[in-house]
Amino acid sequence: MSRLTDPKYLKEILFRHGIVLTKARGQNFLVNPSVCPQMADMCGATENDGVIEIGPGVGVLTEQLAKISKKTVAIELDSGLIPVLGETLKDYDNVKVIHEDALKIDLKQLIEDEFDGGDVYLCANLPYYITTPIIMKLLEDKIPLSAITVMVQKEFADRICAKVGSRQSGAVTAAVAYYAECERLFRVSPGSFFPPPKVESEVIRLIPHKNPPVDVKNEKHFFSVIKAGFAQRRKTLTNALLSGANIPKETTAKALEEMGLSSGARIEELSLSQIGELSNLLYAE
Ligand code: SAM
Repeated sequence: MSRLTDPKYLKEILFRHGIVLTKARGQNFLVNPSVCPQMADMCGATENDGVIEIGPGVGVLTEQLAKISKKTVAIELDSGLIPVLGETLKDYDNVKVIHEDALKIDLKQLIEDEFDGGDVYLCANLPYYITTPIIMKLLEDKIPLSAITVMVQKEFADRICAKVGSRQSGAVTAAVAYYAECERLFRVSPGSFFPPPKVESEVIRLIPHKNPPVDVKNEKHFFSVIKAGFAQRRKTLTNALLSGANIPKETTAKALEEMGLSSGARIEELSLSQIGELSNLLYAE
């Protein structure tokens, strides 16, 4: 068992390096000894593969990823944690820690520079304040990852893995469904972390589609329809697309009619393929 899941040792090492954990950076560290081995086991990487981790903290998940992969690259924003990681990961020569903001780093370039063309997986206990932007960046920028296994808030898992067209779905649900298959792996209770967060967590896995499940004429336009539609999800699509995407009401109403839908339809009633069809009908080349 890793020493890093011992809360006494964790507090000692943080104290020795003068680190005060901050909520603003989502610093809740895993202390349940079974969670990191399970995440590493389920992330899909094997000894020939590379792994990227976002937010290694003190390296509790990183060391499990180092054990199962050829090479693990961990990106940490907090400068205070860099010397800690130097200490906790000193026995692993297949780990590289990069002091950077995961939202700003060029991940395509990182993959090219750090891995020698093999499969690359992402596995992370994400800082919750950047869950949506980080997942959207990975998917929209088409970062070549074989799978993305991440710990997120349970509420976020409910939303991101919901069925498009259900009440729980949102813009991120539709966007993720377009790019990837979403699987819910297991729940993690607040007591598994130090300090414990207020919310339940869940580990989910996204497997990027080889080909999108819907043919869209223009992805940018498709996402502008999704964003505008869900920004005012209780409004009819005719109103939501007028205010959010500047599409005249009559144009949307005509397209909905062509699809056999009511002009009073809301985006949350449409499936992913219906949103795709609507965006294709509304797209003027
Ligand atoms: N992996 C560790 C664990 O499971 O115990 C720590 C996870 S903790 C939830 C999130 C980590 O992400 C923290 O170490 C925090 O400093 C780091 N972090 C926060 N924002 C970040 C960003 N924009 N880029 C990279 N790391 C970030």
